[in-house]
Amino acid sequence: MIGKLKKHIYLASPHMSEQGYEQEYINEAFETNWIAPLGKNVDEFEKGMAQKLGAKAGVALTTGTAAIHLALKTVGVGKGDIVFCQSLTFSASANPITYQNATPVFIDSDEETWNMSPDALERAFEKYPNAKAVIVVHLYGMAADLDKILEICNRHCIPLIEDAAESLGTTYKGRYTGTFGHLGIISFNGNKIITTSGGGMLLLNGDNAEAEAKKARFWATQSRDPARHYQHSEIGYNYRMSNIVAGIGRGQLKVLDDRVEKKRYIYNYYQEHIGDLDGLHLMPMHEWVRSNCWLTALTLSGKITPEMLINALEEDDVESRPIWKPMHLQPAFAEYDYIDNGGVAQNIFENGVCLPSDTNMTDGDLERVCAGILRLWA
Ligand SMILES: *Cc1c(COP(=O)(O)O)cnc(C)c1O
Repeated sequence: MIGKLKKHIYLASPHMSEQGYEQEYINEAFETNWIAPLGKNVDEFEKGMAQKLGAKAGVALTTGTAAIHLALKTVGVGKGDIVFCQSLTFSASANPITYQNATPVFIDSDEETWNMSPDALERAFEKYPNAKAVIVVHLYGMAADLDKILEICNRHCIPLIEDAAESLGTTYKGRYTGTFGHLGIISFNGNKIITTSGGGMLLLNGDNAEAEAKKARFWATQSRDPARHYQHSEIGYNYRMSNIVAGIGRGQLKVLDDRVEKKRYIYNYYQEHIGDLDGLHLMPMHEWVRSNCWLTALTLSGKITPEMLINALEEDDVESRPIWKPMHLQPAFAEYDYIDNGGVAQNIFENGVCLPSDTNMTDGDLERVCAGILRLWA
């Protein structure tokens, strides 16, 4: 068996800077013994990220999921409130709605963006005029139809929360995703475009951004009232990012632009080498968005099925994945309502595949992935 000599190709794996920036910031934290809690890396990571993206403030947290939870608290979502949430997404977008004992209503996608259908959202407001918030997702780096969705939210005076966990570095009409909604969230989980091993950030874009950031930091550190004796007038959470983890984040932030360029290069490589195959359709791109191309995703409409493609790549030690299974099809969310737009999300799920989009890949690796796909069409 010489097969094992072949390199395993990952969907997406952590990619620290070649310059070793992350290690420098971690060393600095060790030297000053600012291991925990908080410290300079956390402050600088929040400031640096907010500045880079054009958000008014950022709050560094343990996960992107925690950021969504605190976003919901910030806009006052509580028991029994309706929250409209994109159905085609990872469960982390929707889980925090239930942490607040609120009720998700799932919204179908449109074919143009794979993200929330403005049409379905409009119909959701007709059915639930008292909804409390909207969670839109920028799936795989592709921006949602923000102009239309914001117009609908503004008309109904409802805050928009952007789940930009997968779209850090994507711009919509020249502005970074995560900065359009009243609140945005990003994730630094191990598979995201930059990673801190695990982490997330709440982005605040509203008129009261500083006050809201202060409140989010309060909740994230167990809601300790200003008193020596540990006084709590509200329930809190242990959601704050550590100073070591934030050091990795500061280093990774310096290479975010490089990672976006590499991801876009990977998308274009696939476009060039397999983009014209019969019945294979890469995720749509539009002139009004510059995607970070976090994962290159595609749908299949011919003889080759997603399972055939995934299995063939797996035999060659190449990791690929199905598209996220929509929330309205998940047993855990079976009891909640769903506003349909012709089954777009389900269709993308049933026919979709995510190709390896690891920034550590070489041209040789990309060639190997494409060769494996081309063999299926031969
Ligand atoms: C990764 C991800 C999250 C959650 O991020 P964590 O940091 O893993 O909690 C939320 N939404 C989407 C769409 C994601 O892909």
